[in-house]
Amino acid sequence: MNTLLLATSNPHKVEEVSAVLAPLGWNICTLEDVANGRPLPSEPVEDAPDFEGNAAIKAKAYAAWSGLPTLADDSGLVVDVLDGAPGVHSARWSGVEGDRATRDAANNQKLIQAVAPFPESDRTARFVCVLCLAEPDGNIRHLARGVMEGHITTHPRGGNGFGYDPLLVLSEGCTSAELPAQEKNGRSHRGAACRALAEALGQPQDRDPQ
Ligand code: IMP
Repeated sequence: MNTLLLATSNPHKVEEVSAVLAPLGWNICTLEDVANGRPLPSEPVEDAPDFEGNAAIKAKAYAAWSGLPTLADDSGLVVDVLDGAPGVHSARWSGVEGDRATRDAANNQKLIQAVAPFPESDRTARFVCVLCLAEPDGNIRHLARGVMEGHITTHPRGGNGFGYDPLLVLSEGCTSAELPAQEKNGRSHRGAACRALAEALGQPQDRDPQ
């Protein structure tokens, strides 16, 4: 039982989570792997007020569907001068529909306009990631949280990553989108949550010898 379903349709999340957990011995499979050509179930409604609640909603729904221990990521950007927005609404904050690139561009535009009146030194912010591992019977085996601190620029930079990466400036002055993938994983909210989860679960072979 070294296999975990990663319940996301975001290929960036698949890459980032797999890059941390696969070398530790976990076999990460995707929704498409499990569906094997069958239609995917409709996405559960993420109506919890916090990242933990939404990660649990997703993990439990897809664990029940798949019969596999299932990992779900709920994540977003928390901006202090915006009272924590966009927070759990990060993915669809602008209200613009369309593919992921269209939604990301509209969200980034909205963020630039929202923070522009504030001096850069006041625009402290962080990415938050909560990973939830649920069993098919609905039991939550673990919740892990990671953060990556920075501040928001109104001048997007960098072509890596996704979402708000071009707007979060890290302590050394580059944006999250200017980090190579491996470096982002080494210090990101998602990388930290993955490592915390892996530590709590133990090495797969320790936990459940094959
Ligand atoms: P979720 O898929 O409902 O968890 O929404 C996550 C949203 O938060 C994404 O669509 C992005 O807008 C934002 N987000 C989460 N993690 C990251 C990241 O690593 N970089 C940039 N944006 C992120």
